[in-house]
Amino acid sequence: MKVLIVEDEKTLAYEIEDFLKKAFYICDLAHGFKAGLEKMQINTYDFILLDLGLPDGDGLNLLPQAKKHNPDAAYIILTARGNLEDRIAGLDLGADDYLPKPFSLLELQSRMQAIARRKFNVKEELLP
Ligand code: CA
Repeated sequence: MKVLIVEDEKTLAYEIEDFLKKAFYICDLAHGFKAGLEKMQINTYDFILLDLGLPDGDGLNLLPQAKKHNPDAAYIILTARGNLEDRIAGLDLGADDYLPKPFSLLELQSRMQAIARRKFNVKEELLP
């Protein structure tokens, strides 16, 4: 499974990347809005992990454009902005899940597995 991590906090982005790579996901990183959009225009992903507070834009504005380029990807919003309006806005824009920071990488992984089962019909034993 191919994952794009859009996250400007580099330490966190690398932590997620390390963790998911060990679980056999293939990861790409983007540290901002524009960089994320560029990757989505070129590549197809199974998962897009999207931070909302990006230095050059709001992840919520990225979501509709992202879905145009990667309509079949599963979107998980990762953000410290845990307020209700942002959660609802993200889900309304078509995010599949929402993980408030700080989150545990194990929880991220099990949510990704849950989405893979639901959305991609991946069998339990085939999951990383
Ligand atoms: Ca951020």
